[in-house]
Amino acid sequence: MFKLLKEVFRTGEATVKYPFAPLEISKDFRGKPEHNAEQCIACAACTVACPANALTMETDLVAGTRTWSISYGRCVFCGRCEEVCPTQAIKLTPDFELAVANKADLTVKAVFKLANCVCCGEPFAPAKEIAYVTALIEAATVKDGAEVTATASAEIERRRRMLATCPSCKRVNDLVQIARITDQQEKRR
Ligand code: SF4
Ligand code: SF4
Repeated sequence: MFKLLKEVFRTGEATVKYPFAPLEISKDFRGKPEHNAEQCIACAACTVACPANALTMETDLVAGTRTWSISYGRCVFCGRCEEVCPTQAIKLTPDFELAVANKADLTVKAVFKLANCVCCGEPFAPAKEIAYVTALIEAATVKDGAEVTATASAEIERRRRMLATCPSCKRVNDLVQIARITDQQEKRR
């Protein structure tokens, strides 16, 4: 008995006091992914990368919206969403206390507005995503505060218009362009 008590005192506490005291977690711990809808551009990269289908994206063309959602009931905390997000809008946190009384509370949603195609006027892609890519193109075309030349300005406008055109209209525009080139070639012969 004395030997056992001696061993107990020597070993000290083998368990933690959680939930009566905070639980110490490692710095690389992967807990609840937090989504920042302000930073999110609804690009859907995370929904494609998510191996557990915890992330989904639904497009409603009638309402002109795209809804991003996460189901914490499905998440396996792999961190792929954080890795692929271009705007750091989703990040894993140390939070692991995810119990809820109502299953519906395990799902969080964010709704984004779709932009209308400049040709046909139909909604087709998230407005924030188009604005983000347009800004990237502008930054890549105009280097470090250099003066915007007429050529650069025309190129930015051409690309901006292309981005703001839906895939169907792009196809039609391409066909019109091909027909015009073919016609010109025919005339030259
Ligand atoms: S951590 Fe993994 S499983 Fe969870 S939402 Fe992100 S990609 Fe999906
Ligand atoms: S990858 Fe990032 S920006 Fe794109 S939909 Fe997911 S959270 Fe939003």
